[in-house]
Amino acid sequence: MDFIPVNEPLLNGNEKKYLCECIDTGWISSEGPFVKEFEAKMSAAVNRKYGIAVSNGTAALEVAVQALNIGEGDEVIMPAFTIISCAMAVTKVGAVPVLIDSDADTWNMNVDEIESKITSKTKAIMMVHLYGLPVEVDKVLGLAKKYNLKVIEDAAEMHGQTYNEKPCGSFGDISTFSFYPNKHITTGEGGMIVTDDEELAERCCMLRNLCFRKDIRYVHDEISDNYRFTNLQAAVGLAQLERLEEFVEKKRRIGRFYTEALSDIKGINLPVAATGYADNIYWVYGIVLNKESSLTNREVTKLLAQEGVGTRTFFWCMHEQPVYQKQGLFRNERYKNAEYLARKGFYIPSGLALTEEQMKSVADKLHKIL
Ligand SMILES: *Cc1c(COP(=O)(O)O)cnc(C)c1O
Repeated sequence: MDFIPVNEPLLNGNEKKYLCECIDTGWISSEGPFVKEFEAKMSAAVNRKYGIAVSNGTAALEVAVQALNIGEGDEVIMPAFTIISCAMAVTKVGAVPVLIDSDADTWNMNVDEIESKITSKTKAIMMVHLYGLPVEVDKVLGLAKKYNLKVIEDAAEMHGQTYNEKPCGSFGDISTFSFYPNKHITTGEGGMIVTDDEELAERCCMLRNLCFRKDIRYVHDEISDNYRFTNLQAAVGLAQLERLEEFVEKKRRIGRFYTEALSDIKGINLPVAATGYADNIYWVYGIVLNKESSLTNREVTKLLAQEGVGTRTFFWCMHEQPVYQKQGLFRNERYKNAEYLARKGFYIPSGLALTEEQMKSVADKLHKIL
């Protein structure tokens, strides 16, 4: 029996054709015409005026934080349970992540806990949509307005998802995407910042490219990195974007299949299929071991690997990261639901190239082990 990888992207549209165009025309760098086209189409898809493509989703968050002039001593509210890119973008500029526990059912940050964490130092809320359901956007936007805070929306896992019928990626002062191969749209590596604010967009363009001054080249007033995005990446992205709707539908099919096939297993909780504001898009199909199971996620993923099934455990909480503990951050902080998800959550093969046969086999193996 062949190993079933946790993710395999689908690249059988126009990817090859557009890539050949890059080779034939010689346009392979960030100066190539596909980059602007991809920025325009991707930002239009989420109703934004400007799109700034960067080398990955982590870079997109870093540029977003710097573009908003968040710095030394500022506080940014974010979930305790997320990818470290979110916290790194903040700590890199000397600002402090202020953490929020998760909602046990949706796995997103519990927005009802945000207000009590707002202080005079709070500059922004980082709203990270996780695993397939959006954060309760209206509550976050309401707080941001009330306290005059910026919103950074991390929509890395949300291409094609909506909140109350408006696209994810349309809500932040700045919103970001990733095009890593396990996202709904991939460019191998890649990311994008979207915004409606012209000044912010210009600042993001500068920050992604070493902060070259516009008037005199090779003269710099500020420091940043090289986060440029290539024409080759954009070629793949354009081909992927053409199929976004189809991809979202496929993800939802995978979600429905697994939910039906696994619903009789007692020791696990499955993703919430729908809320009042969104239908799950199943970025990946996550499973959380419940109180009836004594296993940890690491034990289950090991057993599944022995059965030829690729998996990943869920994210590890920010307050439990050794690197931040060494720095004395988050001392004695506890986030009960986030810690539970980090120890008991994992996801199973759910990439766009997954076949029905593979899904059946994954479900069989889960029944066997659990
Ligand atoms: C994937 C991801 C990122 C980082 O994207 P990269 O392209 O891998 O750097 C950031 N935030 C979330 C929520 C993600 O899922």
